[in-house]
Amino acid sequence: MGELISHALQDDPNECCGLLLGSGDEADELHRMSNVNKKPISRYTMQPGELVEAQEKIKKSNREFVAIYHSHTFTQGYPSLIDIKNAVNVSSIATRHIIVSLVEKTRPVVRAFSINAESEVTELVIQTDGEPYRASD
Ligand SMILES: [Zn+2]
Repeated sequence: MGELISHALQDDPNECCGLLLGSGDEADELHRMSNVNKKPISRYTMQPGELVEAQEKIKKSNREFVAIYHSHTFTQGYPSLIDIKNAVNVSSIATRHIIVSLVEKTRPVVRAFSINAESEVTELVIQTDGEPYRASD
């Protein structure tokens, strides 16, 4: 979780984005992605080439994408209408979305959601024992 928040703070005021790798609903690695959107302050688009690399990486290590994460630097940590629309498009990658909100810079809020093909948003509980989202090598 610490790594997720530090990525968000580093890219602030732009939105950061990335992937959590692991298996099932358990992530063991955070994989940073570049936000190539033309309006990175309020939107994110993962760089397509990096996405291909990440896909090769999980294939090689026999893992999967557990979740997609991005930050909101000026709004609450709830999926925007655009996020929900995008979520349907990227549902082949992952249906779990983590949003870090930096509305209060000193108190980042991390929330997780599941967004299905019908655009239904369900909040998920994030369990952290130790630092499961920290990148390990
Ligand atoms: Zn968003």
